[in-house]
Amino acid sequence: MNQPRRLVLLGATGTIGQQTLDLLGQSTSHFEVVGLSAHTQAEALAKIQVGVPQAKTWLTSLSAENKGLLDFLRSGDYDLCVHGMVGAAGLPFSAAILQAGKTLCLANKESLVLGGQWLSQLAKANSATIIPVDSEHAAIHQCLQGQAQNSVRRIYLTASGGALRDWPQEQLADATPKQVLEHPNWDMGPRITVDSATMMNKAFEIIEAHHLFDLEAHQIEVLLHRQSIIHSMVEFEDGNMLAQLGPPDMRFPIQYALHYPNRQACSLQGFDPKLFSTLTLEQVDESRYPAISLAKEALHAGSAAGTAINAADEIAVEAFLTGKISFAEIVPICQSTLRAMPAFEVNSMKEMTVVDGWAREYATAQLTSQAPA
Ligand code: MG
Repeated sequence: MNQPRRLVLLGATGTIGQQTLDLLGQSTSHFEVVGLSAHTQAEALAKIQVGVPQAKTWLTSLSAENKGLLDFLRSGDYDLCVHGMVGAAGLPFSAAILQAGKTLCLANKESLVLGGQWLSQLAKANSATIIPVDSEHAAIHQCLQGQAQNSVRRIYLTASGGALRDWPQEQLADATPKQVLEHPNWDMGPRITVDSATMMNKAFEIIEAHHLFDLEAHQIEVLLHRQSIIHSMVEFEDGNMLAQLGPPDMRFPIQYALHYPNRQACSLQGFDPKLFSTLTLEQVDESRYPAISLAKEALHAGSAAGTAINAADEIAVEAFLTGKISFAEIVPICQSTLRAMPAFEVNSMKEMTVVDGWAREYATAQLTSQAPA
């Protein structure tokens, strides 16, 4: 029996954290939990620690530097870290794990959207590994095992289309937050559910895929797949294609990331292949989902683009949820912010903070200019 791997779980009380703990409970001899963090839920964190009394715990704060946790992550006194924090605040933790040369099981997609170029450089310089915990990217990661990097012709990211996928386009402006928050397949937080309906989530995933797999904009395509069973596909230079399938449940990519490069038995059951004829794949109408072309535009706009559109989207989604703008205005605000962005270069937290602040201010000014008189 090998030594258990020393594991840190960031965002232990969130959705990804809870699902990770569920899976860890099924392979206790493989891991020793040495660290846990939560954002505000001190009580829930204390409850989790009862099961793993040896683990250090940290409560993170948006206003503080979180030095204790960052120092621990930089110290490298662990083997792998599951990063399930929510939002842009997760980026410095990703950087610390990669600086320590450790394995980062990454569910915090903002890390790659904001700092993809920087994190890729850190991973390379410190021989660290990033294993994506996002269903589409975990699918691509699995399809690429044993394949040469330059053998990929293109990838197909699948998208559910969100709650409004069957609405007539001209009615989208009237969609209410309640209607948008009813996602057909996945149970997620409010921002990502809105991002799923606008496909800004898929736009961020295009940026993620670009950084994770070193792909150009023309190599990344998006298909509408209503059932969320085919999580993504890869077409190779010789025309052969591979896809990864499974029920829409984040425990599948988490289990894969935890045990990579091994496959570990667990209670999860795969998709029943006899139901394959119920699956559909459709072309995405980019006039209905302008977020897709916005993502491609962002890939050509330099290292600050992800930071700018993420900040603008956060402002716009919040404004939509609080009734200040219509659903149809979210993506145009992100687009105008990207197009107005000065030529920033982003290679550090400090530079990112400058871009983030600029984009928030710009997007907020857009809200005022669009508000009804
Ligand atoms: Mg995803």
